[in-house]
Amino acid sequence: MTATSAAAAAYVVAGLLFVLSLAGLSRHESARAGVGYGIAGMALALAATVGLAARSVSAGAVGLIAVAMATGAVLGLWRARLVQMTGIPELIALLHSFVGLAAVLVGWNGYLSVEAEGAAQTEVPTDLLGIHSAEVAIGVFVGAVTFTGSIVAFLKLSARVKSNPLVLPGRNWLNLGALVAFAALTVAFVVSPGAGVLAVLTGIALALGWHLVASIGGGDMPVVVSMLNSYSGWAAAAAGFLLDNDLLIITGALVGSSGAYLSYIMCKAMNRSFLSVIAGGFGNEGSVAAGGVDGEHTEITAEEAAELLRDAKSVVITPGYGMAVAHAQAAVAELTRQLTDAGVEVRFGIHPVAGRLPGHMNVLLAEAKVPYDIVLEMDEINDDLATTSVVLVIGANDTVNPAALDDPGSPIAGMPVLHVWDAEHVVVFKRSMSTGYAGVQNPLFFRENTRMLFGDARERVEDILKAL
Ligand code: NDP
Repeated sequence: MTATSAAAAAYVVAGLLFVLSLAGLSRHESARAGVGYGIAGMALALAATVGLAARSVSAGAVGLIAVAMATGAVLGLWRARLVQMTGIPELIALLHSFVGLAAVLVGWNGYLSVEAEGAAQTEVPTDLLGIHSAEVAIGVFVGAVTFTGSIVAFLKLSARVKSNPLVLPGRNWLNLGALVAFAALTVAFVVSPGAGVLAVLTGIALALGWHLVASIGGGDMPVVVSMLNSYSGWAAAAAGFLLDNDLLIITGALVGSSGAYLSYIMCKAMNRSFLSVIAGGFGNEGSVAAGGVDGEHTEITAEEAAELLRDAKSVVITPGYGMAVAHAQAAVAELTRQLTDAGVEVRFGIHPVAGRLPGHMNVLLAEAKVPYDIVLEMDEINDDLATTSVVLVIGANDTVNPAALDDPGSPIAGMPVLHVWDAEHVVVFKRSMSTGYAGVQNPLFFRENTRMLFGDARERVEDILKAL
């Protein structure tokens, strides 16, 4: 077997491992195995790629590859060990930006080693040169959009810049204009490949990526993160065509299509159309609506909450971003155990976009060893809330906001939410009356059957545990 066919065989196996990984990650029970398949696939892919490259490049170049891989591995391990669960979305956004940058560099490298060298100097047959040029233009475009878009998403998610949408006059026309310019420049580049055209195309794509994400508001960020995930996949696939690497094409297409599908699922969960998300966010109007709700809220102490729970037949816990901030999952799991032991039925209701990334709450609860079978999706639990004695809203806000159903003027109107107010009693754990991620005030806090338990969620749950 030649080295090339051995590498091709390794790529097929790695591709299959990636498919198994995605399949595993779609269920809690198999997620750990899914991660294992992914690691095995990536290790095999790296070994095959480096092994193949080592046969055709100089010893110096192999040394450079080793240095690059070691640096990447050290930096990656360092960041991954340090990152808090709450910081995962921004880390993902930052990693997407690397994929985008890599695609831009691969595209430019393709241009410099083929088109810039002149057809006679390269291995690309003359009649395929046009296709190569189109691959370069598309790869650079998708990569550059992903690069700047991901950086803006990182800055917004890590609160380094405001999450409000940027509203430039005629912003949709600006985006459309950039797409038309991209199409025209790609044709120009295929007809007559030149560094000037490619540089202008790169500049437009960088600006489009930045503008696209800057003009999307806070509430739509989950969709943006998965959309960028999708873009980074397509950028990798484009790089795969340029490098003639089947595995990169397969992996890129897997990431691209699964990211696109995730965006679709999330749009459905928020009752928004994908296009309306891309065309603008709702964080802007949200800050206006924040002042619109007023009323009296009623507080409760941890001891009184413990009393309510002791008398309850059934309890549903709906966690949100605040549970992650407070690191309250272990205390919540302990509360679940104590109540279950006392004969109370305890279940969890998870909104599809609770927290700051899809599956955020499921990961935290799994980490705290909460049994999977009592962790239900929003649609599975909503009908049962009317017959629930107590709902504990732990650091959730937008995902339990009745305005999404009652107020057609609300920025989150139409977003499906957990109907926690249907329960007999609702206890909301948060530190103040401030708004959630979308910047929208929550009428739930002023309902008659709602009690506010102010303070850090972990401390308050621990107080309840003491009182119990
Ligand atoms: P929200 O972001 O709406 O609200 C979180 C609440 O937690 C706040 O009201 C805050 O109130 C409270 N909180 C924060 N820290 C603490 C603490 N230490 N102890 C107690 N409470 C705390 O959360 P949800 O999970 O309900 O909604 C998620 C929002 O994030 C949605 O708008 C969603 O669209 C968006 N989003 C989701 C992503 C995803 O993929 N899941 C990604 C990006 C955004 P206070 O400050 O008063 O304590």
